[in-house]
Amino acid sequence: MGIYKMMDKETVVNAINEMEPAMLQTWQKLVDRDCGPDDKAGVDAVGRDVQHFLEPLGFHVRFHTYEKAGNMLVAEYGDMTRPFIILTGHMDTVFAKGTAAERSFQITGDKVTGPGVLDMKGGLTILLHVVKLLISQGYDRYPIKIILAGDEETGHRNSNGGKDYMEEAKGALMGFNLETGFPDNGIVIERKGVAQYQFDVDGIGAHAGNNPKDGRSAVIELCHKALDMESLTDYEEGTTVNVGVFSGGTVANAIPEYASCRVDVRYSREEGIERVEKAFREIAAKTYVQGTKTHVQCLVKVSSMERLPASETLFHRAEKIAKEWNLPDMKAIAVGGGSDSAYLTRAGIPTLCALGVKGEFNHTVREWADKKSLTERAKLLAALLLQL
Ligand SMILES: [Zn+2]
Repeated sequence: MGIYKMMDKETVVNAINEMEPAMLQTWQKLVDRDCGPDDKAGVDAVGRDVQHFLEPLGFHVRFHTYEKAGNMLVAEYGDMTRPFIILTGHMDTVFAKGTAAERSFQITGDKVTGPGVLDMKGGLTILLHVVKLLISQGYDRYPIKIILAGDEETGHRNSNGGKDYMEEAKGALMGFNLETGFPDNGIVIERKGVAQYQFDVDGIGAHAGNNPKDGRSAVIELCHKALDMESLTDYEEGTTVNVGVFSGGTVANAIPEYASCRVDVRYSREEGIERVEKAFREIAAKTYVQGTKTHVQCLVKVSSMERLPASETLFHRAEKIAKEWNLPDMKAIAVGGGSDSAYLTRAGIPTLCALGVKGEFNHTVREWADKKSLTERAKLLAALLLQL
């Protein structure tokens, strides 16, 4: 445990209340910067801001650099040969360049708005200010590794981010993800994986009146296949398949030459997605309308955050600590949306996710965050780091 004497609750709570203005400043700075999937330069600039925040505290900062995606920041504090803890999240948003100028950071009563305010600039702000506070007080309970992805929202499809995550996570005792918090205080210990695919079918066009028999309908081919795809849903296994977009043909009086669909798959376990992918290849290879050809490709894939017994144990300990600190009651939940916590649980590390500011409507113009939750969740994170 070293020479560090634990700060008492009251000191921490007061210090966090006092640092709210500084936290709001950081939050605003992070929100008012474009860093969407079309803006590697913007994401990398956030990475440098974070680097400049952490280095003076004594963190050693390095980056995994990618050509076509925002870089991943890794910051380490303390003797990393000891079992360490991971604080994690992402720096990118889903919003296109220009959004920050269009609707910048704004506080209206208790509601805070702006691109990525909830997902997840608020959580990022908490992470930074809580480590700053604890380190200024001599924290040495555990070495700390911070991992911040630069392309979470695109599921690392243009980078090696997923693999790098798992490599970096090895050897950790536990992980805390400052992702979007839920208004009902749900703490996520299980998330479904998400994968999306596109099917393209080439048929043979013909005039519907003059020579219909010469045509090979891509639409009919894909109709059969869409039914095959959806029949792969298995609620018990925790796997669902949704053909969400379907299009084909150009005019009513022609046999459609082309059809395509986009399919979303959610899965609780890796076995589920392996089964679906194998079946998708078979569905693509099979032909209902002779003369048509089908091609399938994976567009994006984010692993599932599997429910580990160790995550449940970690949650129960965290729940007790929250009570002792008079913080709102928490509940363990499983959700359908993916996050990078998947890579931590795949590396076998017990992980709590959704510890960031609370709010609603991620990825939309209606996104908002609860201002009060900024300090509330900072207290929770500090409590966990001090007592777990
Ligand atoms: Zn997020």
